[in-house]
Amino acid sequence: MDQPVPAARLSDDEAHLRSILATVPDAMVVIDEAGHILSFSAAAETLFGYAEADVVGENVSMLMPSPDRERHDGYIHNYCKTGERRIIGIGRVTTARHRDGNTFPIELSVGEAWIGDKRIFTGFIHDITHRQQTELRLQDLQSELAHVGRISEMTSLASSLAHELNQPLTAIANYCESGRDLLAGDPDQEAIETAREALDEASREALRAGQIVMRLRDFMSHGESDRRVESLSRLVTEANALALVGSREHGIEVQIQLDHEADQVFVDRIQVQQVLTNLIRNAIDAMIDSQVRSLNIRTAAGPDDLVTVCVEDTGSGISESVAPQLFQPFVTSKLTGMGIGLSICRTIVESHGGRIWFEPRPGGGTIFYFTLPLVGETQ
Ligand code: ADP
Repeated sequence: MDQPVPAARLSDDEAHLRSILATVPDAMVVIDEAGHILSFSAAAETLFGYAEADVVGENVSMLMPSPDRERHDGYIHNYCKTGERRIIGIGRVTTARHRDGNTFPIELSVGEAWIGDKRIFTGFIHDITHRQQTELRLQDLQSELAHVGRISEMTSLASSLAHELNQPLTAIANYCESGRDLLAGDPDQEAIETAREALDEASREALRAGQIVMRLRDFMSHGESDRRVESLSRLVTEANALALVGSREHGIEVQIQLDHEADQVFVDRIQVQQVLTNLIRNAIDAMIDSQVRSLNIRTAAGPDDLVTVCVEDTGSGISESVAPQLFQPFVTSKLTGMGIGLSICRTIVESHGGRIWFEPRPGGGTIFYFTLPLVGETQ
């Protein structure tokens, strides 16, 4: 931590700081220990749509969407009390709020310095909308490639499955037919005995076919997965920043309410973020033509050591024609949709031991829910 500097150097330091603020290409915001804005660089004025005079003296939380908006005072207080660094010197990807209420993804690095005996925090804010757009396109490409890969894998799997199942199924048909012929008319004791043996064989073959299907299911459910203990709040915040890329012009109001008591989950981070970004992007797509465009993401502890994540939108709602098969692959109502997002979401959630479902939102729109098992105290 930097040491306090003598008061004589104060005005020099302040002048130096001012010159940095005028020229620094990234948006830079300086705040005091109470979270009040002390200065606001020229680039920050452009990024957030406020003039420096509008914001100096205000709480920096005005530049953040919920839940950081309500919690930021607590974050600073906690740091000043415990010295525990959550962001200072670490940096992270998060979401910022423009004067017009729209939110956008940023990379935030926070430093700490002393001027005289006053502690200040400097935040460098880099708008990553464009970078994330590129990443998102790459991600789309990757998932399309994976999709193609999956289809060819499935095709070869399906043909070997057809081949393997063909044998027991043909045998079953043959045994049943000869059983039927043996029992036709007035069968003698020997014919009845042989028919019984044929039926025994048929049922053995049916069990064999069942085992082949079981082996296949085992094979499908042991996909590669890299699970660790993760903070669900962090996954939600990051996925939200990623999913909101490119939606700034749609003016979507986002609210996030996280249950910090139900936070630790044992999951594959990338897969769960894929579920979240897919649900959020579907919600955004559904709200494009709505009057009210409000996205609400919540986490809450549920029964049975599960945490429930809800993604609620005020969009078009799910049309009756797609609702019954919504989680089936290739069901889409979009011109450019592939209709595999929700089926992948279901596979991911279920392979983590959770469940995914949706309900219409009272007043219009949809609420998607999914559950994940919480990490217990003993794990
Ligand atoms: P895609 O987005 O490629 O169509 P998905 O499997 O993610 O594939 O979604 C399938 C369909 O489910 C969408 O085309 C849309 O009709 C419907 N849908 C999904 N989420 C929502 C939502 N939040 N509101 C309204 N419809 C939705």
